[in-house]
Amino acid sequence: MPARSPFTSHDLDTLAACPRRLWLERNVQAETTQVAKPAFAGHPERDQILHAALAATPEGQRICDGPDLQAAVNETNRHLGHNDHRPLFNACFIAAGLADAVTHDPAPAITVTADMLLPAGEDSWILVEILPALRIRERSLERVAHKIAVLERCGIEIAGAIIRTINPDFVLERPGEYRGLFSDHHVLGRVRHLVNDVPGILKAAQAVMKEPEPELPLGPHCTNPAPCRFLPHCTAHAPGPQWPVTILPDGGWKKWKRKGYDDLLALDEHEIKPREAMIVAATRSGRPFHDLEGAREAIGQWTYPRAWIDFEAASPALPRWIGTQPFQQVPFQFSLHLEQADGSISHHEYLCCDGSDPRKGCAQALVAAIPVDATLIAYNAGFERSVLRRLARDVPDHAAPLLSMAERTVDLQPVARSCWYHRAQRGSWSMKAVLPSVADLDYDRLEVKGGAMAQDRFLEAIDPSTTRERRQEIEAALRAYCRQDTWAMILLARRLTTAA
Ligand code: SF4
Repeated sequence: MPARSPFTSHDLDTLAACPRRLWLERNVQAETTQVAKPAFAGHPERDQILHAALAATPEGQRICDGPDLQAAVNETNRHLGHNDHRPLFNACFIAAGLADAVTHDPAPAITVTADMLLPAGEDSWILVEILPALRIRERSLERVAHKIAVLERCGIEIAGAIIRTINPDFVLERPGEYRGLFSDHHVLGRVRHLVNDVPGILKAAQAVMKEPEPELPLGPHCTNPAPCRFLPHCTAHAPGPQWPVTILPDGGWKKWKRKGYDDLLALDEHEIKPREAMIVAATRSGRPFHDLEGAREAIGQWTYPRAWIDFEAASPALPRWIGTQPFQQVPFQFSLHLEQADGSISHHEYLCCDGSDPRKGCAQALVAAIPVDATLIAYNAGFERSVLRRLARDVPDHAAPLLSMAERTVDLQPVARSCWYHRAQRGSWSMKAVLPSVADLDYDRLEVKGGAMAQDRFLEAIDPSTTRERRQEIEAALRAYCRQDTWAMILLARRLTTAA
């Protein structure tokens, strides 16, 4: 077996979230030596945000973050050795033998990347952690502590530590002008006491890796703040009942857990709320719950033409288009199936992946495609309404029709929630959960499988370094994904209003 690569700050974050995830990540990833990724490694805007920070510090130097860890460490040492006291981006360090304060045993090696080092004096530096978020999180403080421990072990004197978050009030006024984008928070006093914990955390990570895969139970940490990529694996190998009480939605499971129930099927249908009883009954019988009359009544009120619509939007931390702010939702795509009273359906779409501001084109395409008397139908429609209202503000020439569209938008999801449940949904009414029970369609065979992935692909497509061929591939994948979203709504509505 090849030698293990040093732990990274990301590994220690992962250990805190779930030791099993650490074990899985390090055992499935290629056993090659990698440069430690910065705090926002994997963030689709990493390079652009670093570039904006670099542009605000033109005298800074950037260490190349290629795959060769030792080369990055050597380059860092070379720059530090020149002693010219210029800011350094992506400085890479590796430390072995951090001392455990209790046992004095040496901890395993760890490598970190300092997003920025600012000279603070003759021989000291200020560590800057760039966080593509509006607020500091506890994990960010811990990550700064990991880095201070490593840098100090490498002989770097730390005079200060800053977490640089995104300023929510920033508005892009000129292309590429990002002065004022960041807000600095001095945190050395808040993290100093955490630095001593780092050797112990490293040894805990090492202990996890020495053992077989930990059998830890599933829990809220598996889906919050984002679904863990090992969820299918852990679900398949989860001990316990096939239908756990945690299936009950909206936190309804908590009281049953407190009472000692694990198995959904052990609940007495007569002692629980009607909605929970419906879930238990559908799970027990294997037959879906279907309120045909309720669905017909709700959907029958939606007049024709019906505009089944879905938006994809990007909310980049780094505003790209004039007048936009950090994390503002900017629609770059919609799919629209337009259904007439005679049953005929036409498909319309909009997609802008060339990097230009997509808002005006999106507004024009909506106004051109959607009749003034159409009912707009979305799934979880709050998002579509907010996109339309924001677009009305941003493209005032089309404000009136866009606001009218927002007013005419109805929501299919509450109808599904009250009129349909199949046990395969496992307590979820997301389109991905519902669709397999009503149609021979799923998202697994698509290259783009969800909204977050659509946004990532879009940001990749508009990146100037993306080739034309890759951009075309992404466009095709985005079109297929968004089109499926609106077609799926039609199939779901048909199933809801049709007797078995
Ligand atoms: S699915 Fe849950 S238990 Fe499994 S690795 Fe991920 S966070 Fe850990």
